[in-house]
Amino acid sequence: MNIPNLAGIGMTSQRTRERMITSLMEKGISNWAVLDVMRTTPRHIFLDEALAHRAYEDTALPIGYGQTISQPYVVARMTEAALGRRRPEDGPLARVLEVGTGCGYQTAVIAQLAERVCTVERIQPLLAKARKNLSLLNFRNIRSKHDDGSLGWPEQGPFDAIIAAAAPQHVPAELLQQLADGGRLVIPVGGERGTQQLQLIERQGDHFNTQTLETVHFVPLYIGQVQHT
Ligand code: SAH
Repeated sequence: MNIPNLAGIGMTSQRTRERMITSLMEKGISNWAVLDVMRTTPRHIFLDEALAHRAYEDTALPIGYGQTISQPYVVARMTEAALGRRRPEDGPLARVLEVGTGCGYQTAVIAQLAERVCTVERIQPLLAKARKNLSLLNFRNIRSKHDDGSLGWPEQGPFDAIIAAAAPQHVPAELLQQLADGGRLVIPVGGERGTQQLQLIERQGDHFNTQTLETVHFVPLYIGQVQHT
């Protein structure tokens, strides 16, 4: 695994970042590996300059094209759920798929906890932005493509974890099929605001055990539509 040294990038005060971590802990995030990675990942570089000063507030913010950068708490919660009972001494996850790259922030967080991250985004200019942001941090373990992520990325699977950053009405069968045995899919499911549930689906052979974690608000996962501009 390649862990770039992210500490010290940018001018944002360490105190502001520390406050974000304290807030995540108060909201129940307890996985130290996740907290450590989020403490040092510069979220401000994933935002437009006009919003960068709000980067360490625990809130979702617009990134253009009607999409948002996920709230830090939600990124932490999903990453924690994807890691499951794994401890740092178990080593990183081997392969993770992210559906909905957005600006690339969550990709950067996962890339520090996995050997390889594959990420798929349906809006071409957003993917271009994400690639630019991620290249600033010198990751070497991220593969990305412009496509409909509800189809997964079969050539790169099976995956130890799949994280979806947008909500479908129903869990796409392709994502379940691309889970490795013991793999975990973390996905918001449902349509209307206030009715989406964050689900954790764990594969055991041909069985899929579903657990509902909490109510969430995500942008919709569009199926079968790829946008070029
Ligand atoms: N993880 C991102 C969150 C981005 S918001 C971050 O940290 O910034 C969710 C993203 O999912 C949006 O960019 C949206 O375009 C994308 N999306 C929605 N439906 C999709 C699909 N079918 N395939 C790939 N990406 C999709």
